[in-house]
Amino acid sequence: MALTGIEIFKMLPKTNCKECGFPTCLAFAMALATGKAELDKCPYVSEEVREKLAEASAPPIRPVKIGMKEGVKTIGGETVMFRHEKTFFNPTLIAGLVTTAMTDAEVDKKLGQFMKLQYERVGLMLRPELLAILDANGDAAKFAALAKKVMDGSDAGLILCSENPDVVKAGAQVAKERKPLIGIATPANADAMGALAKELGLPLIAKAKGYDDLAALTTKLTGMGLKDLVIDAGSRGLREAFQDQVVIRRAALGPKFRPFGFPTITCPAQMTDDPVMEKLYAAVFIAKYGGIVVVNDLSADGIFPLLLQRLNIYTDPQKPMMITPGIYEMGTPGPDSPVAVTTNFALTYFIVSGEIEGSKISTWLLIQDTEGLSVMTSWAAGKFSGDSVAHLVKKCGIADKVKTRTLIIPGYAAGISGDLEEELPDWKVSIGPREASHIPAFLKNL
Ligand code: SF4
Repeated sequence: MALTGIEIFKMLPKTNCKECGFPTCLAFAMALATGKAELDKCPYVSEEVREKLAEASAPPIRPVKIGMKEGVKTIGGETVMFRHEKTFFNPTLIAGLVTTAMTDAEVDKKLGQFMKLQYERVGLMLRPELLAILDANGDAAKFAALAKKVMDGSDAGLILCSENPDVVKAGAQVAKERKPLIGIATPANADAMGALAKELGLPLIAKAKGYDDLAALTTKLTGMGLKDLVIDAGSRGLREAFQDQVVIRRAALGPKFRPFGFPTITCPAQMTDDPVMEKLYAAVFIAKYGGIVVVNDLSADGIFPLLLQRLNIYTDPQKPMMITPGIYEMGTPGPDSPVAVTTNFALTYFIVSGEIEGSKISTWLLIQDTEGLSVMTSWAAGKFSGDSVAHLVKKCGIADKVKTRTLIIPGYAAGISGDLEEELPDWKVSIGPREASHIPAFLKNL
């Protein structure tokens, strides 16, 4: 049962030292109770109290990690029903499906498709992350061989799926270095599968149809000491599966119903044979509220829209996407190449850099730190001013790279040219176009 803010406050040191970032212990307690602060921020709670509070202040949906090292991914950890209330933190993972019923050629094709599905957009790498290996015939040796083949042929995080613990164990022994998600624990095999997950230290899928059975299953597994569970509510029709996602999220966040406080896995691959419908189902579960979606078809034209949809949903609208300020080489600029400057708002950077590269005129591009604001907004806010741009030019070292001293500023920031010329008397300030699409013609005429 979750504790109230006052109950938490009674266990805090009450010194109001502010080290947690809150003005008082009471304010910290209130933030803890609503999941808006982390207990670790207070260094003065005793171990005994820490244990008590850890449960009360735990995120309503437990974050679960899958994979190892740089490939590790987190699902769950969400705190709101709707993105506009705060943000969504951990993007839905997209998994391709391979089964022991497939031929070697079919598996090879899937692995090849999986490895090719990588797209760079706005400085981010978009790709599916997981491959789900499904046992189709209870053959442990075949399952282990398929796990080995997937390990050798891809860098995917893995999900090992069988209701037979011996089969899962055989696959996990091969794939343990990737710290796979294993399953499937059901009410019928919960003892054996729970013991296996505990022995291997791996996250476990808990699957049961019906909310009562599902809650009983996760309660039983957590009672065995397992913490990292992923819920499969078992439905394979769109309406029921969608309803399950909403009910589970609502129960976890509203009354903080702990048996449903885990991320979910959804399986469009088992809901339809039509690749287009499969992607539509996947899109539904990326929006609401799948931690993982498993799809069968890995064709690029189906996966790419899902990757973009996911990027849009899991991009925090309150935090502008930014790139690192500094000097960027467009093409192979030399001492006589022009120098342009713009802001570190990612969209601005990628549009401007795309147009410069399209012009085929090698250019030095300086990126000013405007905290992710666009040219017009940052100019209006005083973050793209004559002073700040001059400071960038003096400090970044561009003067050592060029003989020419022409600095191109965005047309929307023409108002800073006077200040800039005062600050940079050796430089000629040239006012560029307002629209990025006019950059190629501008550079060619320079
Ligand atoms: Fe109170 Fe701990 Fe925060 Fe200090 S750090 S104000 S003791 S909650």
